[in-house]
Amino acid sequence: MINYQEVAGQARNDNAFFGAFKFSSRNKNRFNIEKMEEIEKVEKIRCLIIGSGPAGYTAAIYAARANLSPVLYEGIVPGGQLTITPDVENFPGYPEGVSGIDMMEDMRKQALRFGTDIRSGVVTNAVLIPNKNCITIDGKKEIEATTVIIATGATAKYLGIPDEAKYGGSGVSACAVCDGFFFRKKTVAVVGGGDTACEDALYLSGLCEKVYMVVRKNHFRASKILQKRVLEVENIEILFKHEVIGLYGENVLEGAILIKNRGEKEQHDVNIKLDGLFLAIGHNPNSAIFSEYLKTDETGYIKTIPGTSKTEIPGVYAAGDVADPCYRQAIVAAASGCKAALDADFYLKENGL
Ligand code: NDP
Repeated sequence: MINYQEVAGQARNDNAFFGAFKFSSRNKNRFNIEKMEEIEKVEKIRCLIIGSGPAGYTAAIYAARANLSPVLYEGIVPGGQLTITPDVENFPGYPEGVSGIDMMEDMRKQALRFGTDIRSGVVTNAVLIPNKNCITIDGKKEIEATTVIIATGATAKYLGIPDEAKYGGSGVSACAVCDGFFFRKKTVAVVGGGDTACEDALYLSGLCEKVYMVVRKNHFRASKILQKRVLEVENIEILFKHEVIGLYGENVLEGAILIKNRGEKEQHDVNIKLDGLFLAIGHNPNSAIFSEYLKTDETGYIKTIPGTSKTEIPGVYAAGDVADPCYRQAIVAAASGCKAALDADFYLKENGL
């Protein structure tokens, strides 16, 4: 990767750096020539979009239609979290619902239709400097981007127990709003004791016959108001001091083995029959690579100027779940991607870039 500071420092210390073209046959200038050649290989992009969920693709659609010549890097999971959602029924415009994969493919096609340059690749380093953001792709390719839209999403935390992945899409989910509908009149459990778990339990209690909340401590982490609400709902049963240690079921999830009072004299296993298990143990925003330059909250979500997608670095925007600790819905992410592209467009125009 090019270290701009190192190159600039070298140039300051050695006037021959800028004379390298004149004296190219001299050995003493070889290092500098190589550095110059390296720099010349840096691709310049007006609008770089990082991430391919609803925020990234929507930003691409708007940026392409505004002639910003956007380049979008898809990241580790092209299509983002929605590609693990079998059916999306709450995104307006799909009266019959749509699979997450199909929806993301439609958004991708729409972004391509207006000329977005969509590439596979993962951002491995970022140096955010106004108008000269240096982004490294796959540890080798260098890009200098005038504007950057960060739409890298968040990754739901999983328990890491055996069979969790096996029942993904057939009983285990990390999104109650996305998948709760498929468990109408059934029995489900929500794992976690935070605000998300309480909200998920409340949402599911309106659909399901029975909702267990599996909380590993003897108290919630959630805000008092949400605690009060879940405690008041008849079909929610709270299992404090329980942890899920195993899952079972022939083809789909049929139940879970919990451990109660771990590490105590009364420790024992509990078997509960379940149709669905919802994980609400937190998300990790995919922001680590940018956190040296951008303000984040204590959990890593990028902070934006309220009502906009602007970060504190001019020309750098954050959209979608990476900047959204609260809603985490596809429609909200899409809307914030739109804002980010419009913010980038205004910025480029205002600054004649
Ligand atoms: P939190 O980190 O607040 O809570 C996570 C919960 O999961 C905790 O109860 C934690 O237990 C539990 N947990 C974590 N890891 C495990 C594990 N391996 N096994 C079992 N349980 C585990 O995450 P949330 O997603 O709930 O909230 C994130 C942020 O978003 C918070 O700031 C929250 O306030 C905010 N939020 C706000 C909402 C609102 O205001 N309406 C709605 C949703 C979220 P423990 O306590 O033991 O660590």
